[in-house]
Amino acid sequence: MYRVFTFLAFGLMCSFASFGQKAERNHAEKFEQLGQMLRSPNVYRTASGAPGHMYWQQKADHEIEVELNDDNQSIKGWQKVTYFNNSPDQLTYLWIQLDQNERAADSNTPKMATSSINQRMSMRQLEGIVWHDQDLGYKIHTVKTMAGDDIPVTVNNTMMRVDLPEPLKAGEKFEFTVDWSFNIHDRMSFIGGRPGYEYFEKDGNYLYTMAEWFPRMAVYSDFEGWQNKEFVGRGEFALTFGDYKVKITVPADHMVGSTGVLQNPDEVLSSVEMDRWEKAKKSYDEPVIIRTQAEAERLEKGKAKDKKTWIFHAENVRDFAWTSSRKFIWDAMAVKQGGNDVMAMSYYGKEGNPLWEQYSTKVVAHTIKSYSAKTFDYPYPVAISVEASNGMEYPMICFNYGRPDEDGTYSDAVKYGMISVIIHEVGHNYFPMIVNSDERQWSWMDEGLNTFMQFMAEQEWDRDYPSRRGPAHKIAPYMASDQSLLEPIMTNSENIIQFGPNAYAKPATALNILRETVMGRELFDYAFKEYSQRWMFKHPTPEDLFRTLEDASGVDLDWFWRGWFFGTDPVDISLESVGWFKLDNRSPAEKKADEKKAFDREETYISKTYNTKDVEQTVLEADPGTRDFYNSYNPFTVTPEDEKSYKDFMARLSQQEKDLLNSGLNFYELKFKNVGGLVMPLIIQFNYTDGTSEVDRIPAQIWRLNETEVTKVFAKKKEVKSIVLDPFRETADIDESNNYWPRTFTPSRFELFKGAGGVRGASTGDNPMKKAKRK
Ligand SMILES: [Zn+2]
Repeated sequence: MYRVFTFLAFGLMCSFASFGQKAERNHAEKFEQLGQMLRSPNVYRTASGAPGHMYWQQKADHEIEVELNDDNQSIKGWQKVTYFNNSPDQLTYLWIQLDQNERAADSNTPKMATSSINQRMSMRQLEGIVWHDQDLGYKIHTVKTMAGDDIPVTVNNTMMRVDLPEPLKAGEKFEFTVDWSFNIHDRMSFIGGRPGYEYFEKDGNYLYTMAEWFPRMAVYSDFEGWQNKEFVGRGEFALTFGDYKVKITVPADHMVGSTGVLQNPDEVLSSVEMDRWEKAKKSYDEPVIIRTQAEAERLEKGKAKDKKTWIFHAENVRDFAWTSSRKFIWDAMAVKQGGNDVMAMSYYGKEGNPLWEQYSTKVVAHTIKSYSAKTFDYPYPVAISVEASNGMEYPMICFNYGRPDEDGTYSDAVKYGMISVIIHEVGHNYFPMIVNSDERQWSWMDEGLNTFMQFMAEQEWDRDYPSRRGPAHKIAPYMASDQSLLEPIMTNSENIIQFGPNAYAKPATALNILRETVMGRELFDYAFKEYSQRWMFKHPTPEDLFRTLEDASGVDLDWFWRGWFFGTDPVDISLESVGWFKLDNRSPAEKKADEKKAFDREETYISKTYNTKDVEQTVLEADPGTRDFYNSYNPFTVTPEDEKSYKDFMARLSQQEKDLLNSGLNFYELKFKNVGGLVMPLIIQFNYTDGTSEVDRIPAQIWRLNETEVTKVFAKKKEVKSIVLDPFRETADIDESNNYWPRTFTPSRFELFKGAGGVRGASTGDNPMKKAKRK
């Protein structure tokens, strides 16, 4: 059905104001600028999102000597810290992070955790409640000036205040030493966490992943002063850049992988290993195995009594981590980056094979190539992936997941899980290791950006890569969930209920939507690279990201940040109705004929249908031959006036206007309702009766004057058969059933069971990917 409307070539537009109506305002909110929701720009951070002309950041250099005791799984260290006060402020104290204290007997972590008793409790849950003292946490033995005088310190859980002997003036540096030790914990136990050890019962060996292992300087910044949120396990780290010289003493038969470049390979590697290492430096396609599985398995059987010291240097890193075990197999290959070669490497026990030998180092190399193309050349000399049954990132080195079953078989879920984790953790070198945001405050700034980059790297690894996060439609179930369980992305790590969706998936999806739908790849990629390069080796805040992406693309995105990052509304846009109109270009004769037809149709009703025959019969019987209808007036006759006015109208039209009048265009008036609240562009697919289709893209700003309901007219030469809103599923619309005209519906399946009524399906965690195993 279509309706006809009149062509008002020279008509007047009138509007009638309505008086006395009180309605809730439906506009001027979602598209308002963020204004005071953002920090004010200043000389340190500009309104364009770049570092300002007086930007500064602190620096902390470290010399560390550390010794691992494999007999009682403990570690002791001595460090000299040189702290450069590049701020314009005078400091009377320094804050140091003691993250190991998160596992101490008096830790706040278990106190802050809620708990309850369930019908069935795991040992792990119970141990978490009991939390007995395991003698974990730092033992700080001394904090001294270079002259050897004790410096007064105050330990406040995971923070330690160092009271300076005299105020540290702007531009000056302060040197001091710290002597410390702690017991390394079993990270596979209920305590968990990323650093610690794993014990392998079968061969009696330990694999150590040493992170958060030395007292680290807290960040002092222009936007927060001293970062003062203690570490309680989730919100990760805020760290200062610096140069490191680290001497690591371990049992002589251990292999050490570390942040930085090994300074004394001749002292710690065999000559065979040195030869293989040289070969690896020239191997750009395939990793070279430097310590083989057979060699590692031989080492597993003995226990060296003597020790070796491995020396590593690292420049411009915000942290330093290492791993040590006699179980390690080691392979490496080279990757070209700008004018330099980066060594991509992996360390893994035999438990990681055959997966690790096949994939790990190649994934490291792939990640560097993929990420660098979108940000900056990888600036560090090495990138290392360590098999540690988890996933955690540090500069140049990360600990990853992905272990086949004991018989060497593995499922696709394990394989892709491993590749994804390696991409993700190696990817963290870019965010937050180099683009050094404050993880304690803003998890999404590194996790969200990194997950977005991870999605692109995954898709470049394999055409049909089963990416878990990134595509818009995958975030819809989270955004459709109970509003009382949701928070804006701009929420501190510790206050988030569903951490994965909030800090990883939603920001990653939002960036993907910006790239594919709102800004387009060309504008987005330029602006994202600009952000990465502006804040490389610096400390950005959310404002710097928001502002740079707008400043470098020329696209106002305040509405997008407001909706996606500061709000919890989901996207649900409904295509409410469609009207079909055609221009009225009929002559008076055609028009009257149509009117007559319409009149006849309207004047046909049931009584008349029954009556007609009877009435005619009665009249004819009463007065045969004279039946001439009483009413001879025919309103459907064309009058001379009709003809004249039509002629006049046509005479006043230009040829262009006549063409338009006779174009035969179809006008479709679409009405949209914003059910979800989050404003988004309208992506409309028109499917025509001739089998072709066309997509119109309308910017989100169509919602400016009415944020809840809009109509828009589309002129189409062809006739439309059906319309689909968001046909490529790119807006994260949580209810797609109202995206169709005419409405359409698809069947859901339900299962039939026979017997006692057990529950099957999703709730049992049935994962079809787990079933297909391969070697
Ligand atoms: Zn991460």
